[in-house]
Amino acid sequence: MSLQELYQEVIVDHSKSPRNFGKIDRASHAEGYNPLCGDKVDVYVKLDGNRVKEISFKGNGCAISTASASLMTEFAKLKTIEEVRKVSDEFQSMITHEDYEPHMDIGKLAVFQGVREFPTRVKCATLAWHTLKSALKGREEIVSTE
Ligand code: ZN
Repeated sequence: MSLQELYQEVIVDHSKSPRNFGKIDRASHAEGYNPLCGDKVDVYVKLDGNRVKEISFKGNGCAISTASASLMTEFAKLKTIEEVRKVSDEFQSMITHEDYEPHMDIGKLAVFQGVREFPTRVKCATLAWHTLKSALKGREEIVSTE
């Protein structure tokens, strides 16, 4: 199996059976929308101090947006807000920069690096991250990638 096929398999798996799917009551919440593709994602997060204690998402979108949200919730759980911000920036630069050089290990999130060859899908992959950032600010907010 090539690395590309392995990556594809992880994305298909997470889009078909998303992890941490559902709503968390009394959590900080933000809603994201990507009008280019029609993806919608709601992110719920509960903090313990400055650490993510619980995180989940709900949404309606393409395979890439769903898989990205699913892998994001797995990754962000129990991380500090600072760690989440760093990883979010790293993820963003990985899928938008042609000459990307890794600055840190982002684990399974690396499966999305192929997305940079499809500029119209970049926003599908980053939507959940933008929405999480906004949920971490603790305000109800509607985020649009436009
Ligand atoms: Zn999409």
